[in-house]
Amino acid sequence: MSFNYLFKFVLIGDSAVGKSCLLLQFTDQRFQATHDLTIGVEFGSRVIEVDGVSIKLKIWDTAGQETFRSITRSYYRGAASAILVYDVTRRDTFNQLENWIEDARQNASENTQIIIVGNKIDLENKREVSEEEGRKFAEENGLWFLEASAKTGHDVNQIFQNMTRIIYQKIQNGE
Ligand code: GDP
Repeated sequence: MSFNYLFKFVLIGDSAVGKSCLLLQFTDQRFQATHDLTIGVEFGSRVIEVDGVSIKLKIWDTAGQETFRSITRSYYRGAASAILVYDVTRRDTFNQLENWIEDARQNASENTQIIIVGNKIDLENKREVSEEEGRKFAEENGLWFLEASAKTGHDVNQIFQNMTRIIYQKIQNGE
């Protein structure tokens, strides 16, 4: 499939928050329940349309690197967007967001647009972090925010679509 632009996206956040599942849901529209910890970076890609323009997203998944809560600088290189994921059913993963923001600000370009994503909202009865709290945290840090479920697919496309539009419009405005 042909495209006019190519954007690199990176997934970051604690282990088991659902980064790989969000990627799989976005690229293949499916959910896999088993957790397969693999070594090395994995990719996914998909072409989407924004304002009538075809944009290919190449999405990098940490594939285990995040266990050490340190991601190599090369992982972030050239990333138009970083998707910082936490699990709404595990407050510890929300508490780590500050460290991840610090990591991204040290290693990514200042142009890299960061969105915080609260994943697993299908597990409403296990929720430990409210949507309001997540949104407030993102606002305080000047970052974008969405809640999603990689399992049901709720708002998964929205994450990528919204960030692609934001980046594309910045390019159009010469920013
Ligand atoms: P990663 O380490 O951040 O890449 O996390 P994974 O994508 O491997 O997911 C970790 C575990 O959480 C797996 O068992 C997934 O099946 C599960 N999981 C991921 N996303 C969701 C979700 O939205 N809802 C539910 N219920 N489980 C999820």
